[in-house]
Amino acid sequence: MQSAVDELIQQCIEALRFEAELTVSEWADTHRILSGKASAEPGPWRTDRTPYLREPMDCLSTTSSVQRVVMQFAAQTGKTESGANWLGYIIHHAPGPLLMVQPTVDMAKRLSKQRLESLITETPCLAERIAPARSRDSGNTMFSKEFPGGIMILTGANSATGLRSTPCRYIFLDEVDAFPHDVDGEGDPVTLAERRSTTFSRRKILLTSTPTVKDFSRIESEFLLSDQRRFFVPCPCCGHMQWLRWAQMKWEDGEPESARYECESCGELFDESHKTQMLTAGEWRGTAPGDGKTAGFHLSALYSPLGWKSWAEIVDDFLKSKGDAPRLKTWVNTVLAETWEDDYAAKISAETLLERTEIYEPRVIPEKAVVLTAGVDVQDNRLAVSVWAWGREEEGWLVDHQEIHGDPAGPELWKQLDQLLLEPFPHAVGRPLRPDVICIDSGGHFTAEVYQYARERRVYGVVAIKGASQRGKPPIGKGNKVDINWKGKQLKKGAEVFSVGTDTIKTTLFGRMRHNDPGPGYLHFHNQLDVTYFEQLTAEKQVMRFHRGFPIREWVKKPNARNESTDTMVYAYAGLHRLYQRYDRRTIWDQLEKRAEPDGKVGEQQAKPPLRSRKPAQGGGNFIKSW
Ligand SMILES: [Zn+2]
Repeated sequence: MQSAVDELIQQCIEALRFEAELTVSEWADTHRILSGKASAEPGPWRTDRTPYLREPMDCLSTTSSVQRVVMQFAAQTGKTESGANWLGYIIHHAPGPLLMVQPTVDMAKRLSKQRLESLITETPCLAERIAPARSRDSGNTMFSKEFPGGIMILTGANSATGLRSTPCRYIFLDEVDAFPHDVDGEGDPVTLAERRSTTFSRRKILLTSTPTVKDFSRIESEFLLSDQRRFFVPCPCCGHMQWLRWAQMKWEDGEPESARYECESCGELFDESHKTQMLTAGEWRGTAPGDGKTAGFHLSALYSPLGWKSWAEIVDDFLKSKGDAPRLKTWVNTVLAETWEDDYAAKISAETLLERTEIYEPRVIPEKAVVLTAGVDVQDNRLAVSVWAWGREEEGWLVDHQEIHGDPAGPELWKQLDQLLLEPFPHAVGRPLRPDVICIDSGGHFTAEVYQYARERRVYGVVAIKGASQRGKPPIGKGNKVDINWKGKQLKKGAEVFSVGTDTIKTTLFGRMRHNDPGPGYLHFHNQLDVTYFEQLTAEKQVMRFHRGFPIREWVKKPNARNESTDTMVYAYAGLHRLYQRYDRRTIWDQLEKRAEPDGKVGEQQAKPPLRSRKPAQGGGNFIKSW
């Protein structure tokens, strides 16, 4: 008995000694084996191969006083592997409860199956400590792995329950820019997760990510709070220590292979062959005071070791993506590890849109368009109406924009709307068409009148809508029955109201307005529109608001500005998405093109019942289904 206690004490002393002395990079150099499945360079880990990983890893060692490590790194520079080394170190040398958070629960599952299993099975000292997942009651499941002295729990940032459970000394938050800004209404997942470590005085938190959009990037805001370490390397010509910047990269026109780096001190150009020496002689230097507890590291792919991503490849990727904003954004984020400045909201002005107008006849459907949708905004003394024509891949033309003045409480105004929308519009080359969907806003002061109008003209595709400004809503939702009788029962042919994701649609359409080349997604405006139309179209801007301490973008109207041309365009676009609910998305444009052909058969539109019948038409529902 005594000897067993002695042995235990001996083990504890050993563990404490290990914990005190060993660093993560030393552990990795001694024990870590890279698997052939997951690594391009299988075999024993060598920190010398990626010298810039030594310091971030060593800040995660129990020997370091740093509490939080922030890695804003380019893709494929080894940040995930350094995280894996830390996990191995914890399991083997500094056991304790550990929480690993991926952006989603699904991603946590994938990581567990693909990477952790091989990390454990191919590193003997870890395999000894964690039972194989297959054996029953092994303490090793998809989302939790027990080891002597600790446990690793895996979860997703989209699960508040997963983030709330037991206290943890170690927290690994991976790819934090992909985390939601709010989880299940309980707030920021990073804050929720970090709260679990507050009882541990020697806690360690690792946050890693490639960055995303400026002002919305979590990893960047964490890096800016830190001491902002940059990896300084010596110039092979003059020895001047500097950190590598994209602006210093030079190449001959159209020849990425000629890529060389211009020293910021002596101005010499040097090629990549010096990189290995430069990395070996490199060192991290803080460039800001920071908070004293957080070590922040920034690294671009310009530092990738020889044999990994080369300068030539980086220049080539840049040349291929520079004309294409989404692709360039990915390049900036994943190669330079910088945030992308999203400036389209600022760039669109009434004047620039007015300059872009084209000569085509209003109230006539342009040649390439095959379907019409309309959006109607209801004000206290008028209706604003936009009719949009659409062609393949959502190329759009504003066909008509009008205001009808009158009292929405009386029938006269609505009769005028009938005249405007229920008569076919001539087509430049094909058959005349009526709008297939007419979306009317029911959110103002005349909800009952809008419901009635929509109920009576359902067969004409009139739908009552209500804007939902929250982020991430679909362009148009499912219909909600709103007419109920005195017993509270829904009426069979009663009005339905559809929610419209206004934030989603504005982001899509204003993004498209930035493009200057007609084609898929391009929005055309005719030259008979006046500046008021465009002022209303640019009355809203995306601004940054803080929600529970985290920045989010929101569309906000300039004070006292009218914005009906925006609203009616948004509703008309929602109308197009209403069609997608009815048609097969794969063949919708083929079907619509066939229907618009000049010699096409008598179309479905002509078969609609006369408006004067007033009562909801028999079989109206079937009619709509057969679109
Ligand atoms: Zn130099």
